[in-house]
Amino acid sequence: MPIQILPPQLANQIAAGEVVERPASVVKELVENALDAGASQIDIDIEKGGARLIRVRDNGCGIAQQELTLALSRHATSKIGSLDDLEHIMSLGFRGEALASISSVARLRLTSRPAQQEAAWQASAEGREMNVQLKPAAHPTGSSVEVQDLFFNTPARRKFLRTEKTEFSHIDELIKRLALSRFDVGWSLTHNSQSIRRLKPASTAAQQLQRVASLCGRVFAEHACWIENQHQELKLWGWLLPPAAIEQQGCQYSYVNGRMMRDKLLNHAIRQAYGERLTDSQQPVFVLYLELPAHDVDVNVHPAKHEVRFHQARLVHDFVVSALSDALQQVTPVTTPSAAR
Ligand code: ADP
Ligand code: MG
Repeated sequence: MPIQILPPQLANQIAAGEVVERPASVVKELVENALDAGASQIDIDIEKGGARLIRVRDNGCGIAQQELTLALSRHATSKIGSLDDLEHIMSLGFRGEALASISSVARLRLTSRPAQQEAAWQASAEGREMNVQLKPAAHPTGSSVEVQDLFFNTPARRKFLRTEKTEFSHIDELIKRLALSRFDVGWSLTHNSQSIRRLKPASTAAQQLQRVASLCGRVFAEHACWIENQHQELKLWGWLLPPAAIEQQGCQYSYVNGRMMRDKLLNHAIRQAYGERLTDSQQPVFVLYLELPAHDVDVNVHPAKHEVRFHQARLVHDFVVSALSDALQQVTPVTTPSAAR
């Protein structure tokens, strides 16, 4: 075959292979867009584990009519404009790939209205030629993205979908993790029209702990110790369950500059801090937030952004170990752990 440039849909479907693994990955991209748009309320509706419908509605800044088509194109983003921006990234998105990728493997409808625009408009894209249809619609300020029939045109991918229950449990787990990244945002999640989660914005410490309790369980909220530590420009805060209170597997959530992570370095540091205090059958249980200057961390390591690279990896690692060891030192060997603040 001669060398040829891939047609846009195929290029997008290949990109989708990296970002859109399953319904939960679509939800992640759409919710991150809503957060980047400054939403204070995000409503997520799921049907059939997300295989039939994923709808994410926000009250964020919206997208102007003349930019709707562009929003669905590959490499189109309002979040960065230069390499310099990439090095100081504050938004969750920046690759300009999610909507294009998703619309290449599903039927996507984007309805949006910026506050200053009189009416809403809807753009729909249906896989094939990636041509976008625009029509007037009704919508309050903000956006809704509806993704129907995920992988309808990529049967090999569709075959990999697990049961409705399993796919939904991945979505629910994701929403838990996201809801813990933004206490100031209100969330709702429904599955097949049944309300699964409803979380009001939490501003006071008591409200935050209440959210933690509803997402990580009563035991965690009652026994976790609160930690808050700072070293130069590194800050670590959150909740940590003392070994004596760990009875079963629990939340293992970590965030770097507000971004949820599955980071090897952090996990290693947390594990090391617990050290010998854990028995063989115990795993660390934590909700931890690390903050550091944006230019000290590279988020452009993985298309789904699960991982980051710290410029001063050793320093970050040792800081986390010592902050957590200090905290654990204070609670062990007490058998009744102190309650969180
Ligand atoms: P990225 O988030 O990497 O910029 P996306 O494909 O996810 O790329 O989105 C493309 C663009 O569409 C975004 O940069 C943003 O300008 C716009 N957009 C997407 N979703 C929303 C939303 N919910 N509210 C406002 N703007 C949005
Ligand atoms: Mg995005």
